Amino acid sequence: MEQVKCLIIGSGPAGYTAAIYAARADLKPVMYEGMQPGGQLTITTEVENFPGYPKGVTGPEMMIEFKEQAMRFGTDVRSGLVTNVDFSKRPFKAEADDGKTILADTVIIATGATAKWLGLESEKKYMGQGVSGCATCDGFFYRGKDVAIVGGGDTAAEEATYLAKLCKKVYMIHRRDALRASKAMQHKVMNTANIEMVWNSVPEEVLGDDGGVTGVRVRNVVTSESRDLDVWGFFVAIGHQPNTDIFRGQVELDEMGYVKTIPGSTKTSVEGVFACGDVQDHYYRQAVTAAGTGCMAAIEAERFLGN
Ligand SMILES: Cc1cc2nc3c(=O)[nH]c(=O)nc-3n(C[C@H](O)[C@H](O)[C@H](O)COP(=O)(O)OP(=O)(O)OC[C@H]3O[C@@H](n4cnc5c(N)ncnc54)[C@H](O)[C@@H]3O)c2cc1C
Repeated sequence: MEQVKCLIIGSGPAGYTAAIYAARADLKPVMYEGMQPGGQLTITTEVENFPGYPKGVTGPEMMIEFKEQAMRFGTDVRSGLVTNVDFSKRPFKAEADDGKTILADTVIIATGATAKWLGLESEKKYMGQGVSGCATCDGFFYRGKDVAIVGGGDTAAEEATYLAKLCKKVYMIHRRDALRASKAMQHKVMNTANIEMVWNSVPEEVLGDDGGVTGVRVRNVVTSESRDLDVWGFFVAIGHQPNTDIFRGQVELDEMGYVKTIPGSTKTSVEGVFACGDVQDHYYRQAVTAAGTGCMAAIEAERFLGN
């Protein structure tokens, strides 16, 4: 069994930023990359809002650079998944699917969240070419154009009103005849002139050509009639699933399954276990905020060990 000072679980912007700081603080971090090396940004094309890239960068390219920077300072990056953890006593114990069991003085959880998708073949086909899971990230590309968004909760309502400020028209597709969002958010949506509700409807197919998305076919679940909406962008806002299954019963989670952290820090309910990035944040969900909390987690781990 090997013992390490700092184990980082997850290789998105949060995990890699934690790794850069932990490695430079001589904690000799070991990182498990998980099922999606590089994290969520590896499924997007252009990233234009991460500081330091004035011309933009593709998600996969940016994550290769994160990795190179973390490895430059000696992070031991391993492919594989952490499958089981025991945080009941220190050193903490983690089992990985490469057969290794690791004892760790500190653990940084950076396992992110997974955006929920509709599961349509055409949604996959046009991913990053008009299909997006993040209005804050990609809304800018559709300034002055017509777009559609699917969802009915608070996030969908927030994202629809955000898009309405940039786009000419926003079709909001929802499978019921009323939104699930809070009353305040419903009010905001209903009072935004360029949002058109498409009630009782589900997307059947994303339409497109070589240039990307050209529309979305929706079916009314009451009448069974289909119609095509001409749009340039299609946003899926049906929720996220935090990747916290292995931490259930080990650290405190909130009612949605996100790791609870002490406000203003990355400390979890277990001393010596820290959480950063989307796994503990359902509000901002940005690469730069994930990276920021990754930095915090490494500094907190280093100070914890120092004490
Ligand atoms: C389509 C799309 C486009 C986006 N575009 C932008 C953008 O332009 N700008 C922006 O700022 N944000 C964007 N985002 C949001 C951004 O990707 C996330 O906020 C950010 O990636 C969160 O980083 P993270 O490190 O917390 O987690 P993630 O990126 O989700 O990474 C989680 C990591 O944990 C690993 N993992 C999970 N479980 C385990 C396990 N058991 N063992 C080991 N590893 C594990 C995964 O393999 C992955 O490497 C976009 C998101 C999507 C879905």
